[in-house]
Amino acid sequence: MTGMTAPAVRDGLHPWQQALRAQFPIITGHPELAYLDSAATAQKPRAVLDAVQTYLTTGNANSARGTYTWANRTTELVERTRERVARFLGDDRPERSAVHFTSGATEGLRTIARDWLPGFLRDGDEIVVPDADHRANIEPWLEAQRLLAGAGVRVRVVPMPYQSGSGDYDHRALAERAGPRTRFVAATHVHHVYGGDMNVHRIRGAVGPDAVICLDAAQSVGHLPVSVAELDVDFVVFSGHKALALPGSGAVWARQERGPAFVPGGWSGTPNTVGIASLEAALDWLDAAGVERIERWTAGLAARLTDGLRRLDAYEVLGCPLSLAADSTVQRRRGIVTLRHRAVESGDLGFVLFSHGFMVRSDNHCQGDAGEKTGSVRVSLHVYNTVEEIDRLLSVLASLS
Ligand code: PLP
Repeated sequence: MTGMTAPAVRDGLHPWQQALRAQFPIITGHPELAYLDSAATAQKPRAVLDAVQTYLTTGNANSARGTYTWANRTTELVERTRERVARFLGDDRPERSAVHFTSGATEGLRTIARDWLPGFLRDGDEIVVPDADHRANIEPWLEAQRLLAGAGVRVRVVPMPYQSGSGDYDHRALAERAGPRTRFVAATHVHHVYGGDMNVHRIRGAVGPDAVICLDAAQSVGHLPVSVAELDVDFVVFSGHKALALPGSGAVWARQERGPAFVPGGWSGTPNTVGIASLEAALDWLDAAGVERIERWTAGLAARLTDGLRRLDAYEVLGCPLSLAADSTVQRRRGIVTLRHRAVESGDLGFVLFSHGFMVRSDNHCQGDAGEKTGSVRVSLHVYNTVEEIDRLLSVLASLS
């Protein structure tokens, strides 16, 4: 559980974190505000902004078309970033995988559901989907079921018992529901409301070696090390904009043995080259900063916030507890803490917090059908957040209890 240990902090300051925070102009330019909504989208370091400007001022052209320098540079950028994504995801056999650029996680999941899944599933096959995931990881599979109804394909929805406050996948239910016809499982790596990361090996154990596991890694890539070699999954889908790159960027990593995962004709479209330039710079920045250290930092802040909230009776903390049952599917809590005031509606709480300079998300967070209906306030963290922000937030929350 070393991942739970916060780095040493003196007077709420940590030199490593301060140096990184200083690289985010929007953060340093607004000292009166605390951005606590990185699960929705993350802020961008100077290196990403510079990479975009450099690309647009020195080499903007279409890719895989021209014979002149800018076009060649763009083609190289796109191909280099494919390899960069594979390396960032710990792919030790990139020749046996493929990376497809998308506009974000939603488009990545839809692309797999629409363009790859129909060719993979056979009559009577089943897809397993957890019921309380982000809607982006539920609707594409329900849509696929509608499209493939004639082929007898069925979606089985697995409960995620959020009522217990665990935010845990019920892996026993998963094992019960998974049968010999389960050929595809849509799972989420880090839950966007409960903040726990899933033990993907347990999911693999429940569904067996032949099922394809598609991991929605929107909340993990850029926040904690994600290694496809270690995870044993077939697809990894993520958003660039949550991993410090520009909005409209993202990627699908696919194991090639599972067949091509791409849009027919997709190679001939114009990719979001600016987004790709930003993604390359963001992944370089994250590697240099150290994703493991970012993970420790944000988990430490989340633990501090959770501990503080437990002392405030007016609040309920949703999601996985800090100490987990031995057989939990969740491994640990990451940099997401979701709370609810027992008497104040979440939208009102969000407004009050903003009047104190805190930017949080307050609604039901695009959670799937069985998810939280009443709304909650989500605090989501990145490397630029500080201990001082957490302590100040706790004192404002205490004043409202
Ligand atoms: N999946 C999860 C777990 C998310 O948290 C989100 C966004 O909040 C998405 C998918 C959708 O990502 P995008 O905005 O890149 O389409």
